Amino acid sequence: MTLFLNLVFRNRLAAMGAVVITAILLLALLTPILPMHDPDVTATADRFKRPFSDGHILGTDHLGRDLLSRLLHGTRLSLAVGIAAALIAAATGATIGIVAGYFGGRIDNVIMRVVDMLMAFPYILLALAIVAALGPGLMNALIAVAAVNVPFFARNIRGITVGLAGREFIEAATLAGMGHTKIILTELLPNVLPVIVIAMSTTVGWMILETAGLSFLGLGSQPPQADLGSMLGEARSAMISHPHTSVVPGIMIFLIVMSINLLGDGVRDALDPRLRSGALSRPRATTLVDRKGPLPAPTNDLLSIRDLETQFHVGARTYKAVGGVSLAVKPGECLGVIGESGSGKSVTALSVMGLVASPPGVITSGAVYFQGEDLIGAAYETLRKKRGDRVAYIFQDPLSTLHPLYRVGHQLAEAIQSHQKVPNHKARARAIQLLKDVRIPNADSRIDDYPHEMSGGMRQRVGIAMALANDPDVIIADEPTTALDVTVQAQILSLLNDLRRDRGLAIIFITHDFGVIAQLCDRVAVMYAGRIVEEGPTQAVLDAPAHPYTKHLIACVPELGQGRRVLATIPGLPPMVDDLPLGCAFAPRCYKAQDKCREREIQLLGTKPRAVRCLFPEEPV
Ligand code: ADP
Ligand code: MG
Repeated sequence: MTLFLNLVFRNRLAAMGAVVITAILLLALLTPILPMHDPDVTATADRFKRPFSDGHILGTDHLGRDLLSRLLHGTRLSLAVGIAAALIAAATGATIGIVAGYFGGRIDNVIMRVVDMLMAFPYILLALAIVAALGPGLMNALIAVAAVNVPFFARNIRGITVGLAGREFIEAATLAGMGHTKIILTELLPNVLPVIVIAMSTTVGWMILETAGLSFLGLGSQPPQADLGSMLGEARSAMISHPHTSVVPGIMIFLIVMSINLLGDGVRDALDPRLRSGALSRPRATTLVDRKGPLPAPTNDLLSIRDLETQFHVGARTYKAVGGVSLAVKPGECLGVIGESGSGKSVTALSVMGLVASPPGVITSGAVYFQGEDLIGAAYETLRKKRGDRVAYIFQDPLSTLHPLYRVGHQLAEAIQSHQKVPNHKARARAIQLLKDVRIPNADSRIDDYPHEMSGGMRQRVGIAMALANDPDVIIADEPTTALDVTVQAQILSLLNDLRRDRGLAIIFITHDFGVIAQLCDRVAVMYAGRIVEEGPTQAVLDAPAHPYTKHLIACVPELGQGRRVLATIPGLPPMVDDLPLGCAFAPRCYKAQDKCREREIQLLGTKPRAVRCLFPEEPV
């Protein structure tokens, strides 16, 4: 809630709107107890008194009634009617929209066609027709204004609901045996509520105007009762001779509608999750860098990560996701990075190209050298040119990295053309070649498929093709085969292997599966709680794991044809990176841990290329 208010008030105009409308609301609430003239008492002797005359601060109208009193009572009435109309329209419209969107099919069709029919009438004409049928009066004006706004809400909410109704969490709720009412109330409603509030906050001003419009025409509040619209209507004949009678309610309508709209915009920005992560606290184009102290020296590797520290600053907490990681790859080399979920592998990978979202991510120390150039301190334009061109990524979930509405050929061509100036037909030919390279059968026709027309394995190949589009020097693959079945995984691994042989590609391969590492990687680095705890050539590490954690990880891999064996598991859970223990982070789960392990930081020691961060390693390194 405080976060929400903070977000709203960060927008100056919204804050101004909030102050004005709060003041007006307070005045409206206090009106009955304020010492004022009766708004409806006429005094023909005092007709058309100018503002600031005795006893009448804002003057009087054509019947000698006190304008200030009428204004405040009128405001009260207009606000009440406008807000009530907005609430009724929102509640009715949202119910209709949710029912239509959730049940779909014929119900949806019938409901939406009725809504469409209502929408086909011009707004004000429809309102006039309703009032004409019901008879003039404030209550009927309220009903009319609410009714003409129902289709707007219904259409909006139906659209959102249709999008949500097919989602997995609704299916899960259905599978769990929940009834329709419960699903609508507990699964759908919380998701559409922000949209309802947004739609309401941006339309309530408009509804106050519409009510005023009906009253202006004499169809809303009836004399002597004042609302802002009827005050304007009565002042119409004296507009030239006594302008103050129309200026006073006019200014009030302006203030109300303006402040509500400004506040509404602010509320919409703060509530809309897309805007919240986009427009208001827009993630920077590159990760925030806040390094102190001297930079580590560059090495002569193709890509080297040196003492990298990446943290997340969330409120008062600091999550040390990556705490001093050094890794390096040479051309044609494949480095495996392994560790349990949450050990900082992805954050390390994303830090290389400044792709960690900031806020909350901050790179607090270290450097990443690509061909001798530090990428961490590089300007956005430098990074942008290298992203996807020299250093490319493959992510775990190909369905979420491909755009669902574009054909894969289009997306591949786009990847090529964002770094190279090539005409469309050449980009297409290259895209087909790339699909062939990643062994997609019938590449010539597959290129015009949409992502949803492909299987998971094929989509992942498209992801790899996209990473290869500009013939990069380094590919960082973050669990690219985790979502795939074993046979497809084997094909993709051998594909990557061929590519690095043929093209001299350097690969950083992130996984949590030692079996995959054994197939593909020359060297392996084991990560735990944001640090490297062991590294070395794959075979050496597999043959003689030195860190107890590595040993456990290897023991977790099942082996075919080895007879029945109880698979090992690692007791306990990885630590929270916002509260790391002093000394070895693995100590609480380690069968060998002693007091010494918990006293101070433990260095990564060993003879190159082997190293281990353990005081009591399983094997000397
Ligand atoms: P993995 O090794 O599974 O790829 P990650 O690199 O994604 O792990 O995450 C490393 C740590 O960083 C985790 O403990 C995670 O909780 C933390 N983390 C990641 N993103 C954020 C974030 N936006 N805010 C706070 N902590 C985060
Ligand atoms: Mg990850």
